[in-house]
Amino acid sequence: MGKIRRLLHQIGHRISGLPNCQDVNGFLADYLDGNLDAKTKARFERHMRRCPPCAKYFDQYNETIQIARETAPVEVPRELADHTLEFLRQRRHGAHE
Ligand SMILES: [Zn+2]
Repeated sequence: MGKIRRLLHQIGHRISGLPNCQDVNGFLADYLDGNLDAKTKARFERHMRRCPPCAKYFDQYNETIQIARETAPVEVPRELADHTLEFLRQRRHGAHE
């Protein structure tokens, strides 16, 4: 999650709408993880409808998580690694002949 936190930090948190914005935005991660109880969830959703800055922040947050997921480091498939080694072996072999 470190990467996501870094990205979110880059986005910055410029919420200046309703008084309970800070409050509601504290629920963001839990909301996305589905950890909120029904009452808090309803409060969160109601706030997002009323408060464009928060709704925008929520969108960016969501988008950032998507990006972070898509660009998460993937392991090089074993097959590809074998392929590359084989290629190098053959090349070296060929150079000697
Ligand atoms: Zn707000």
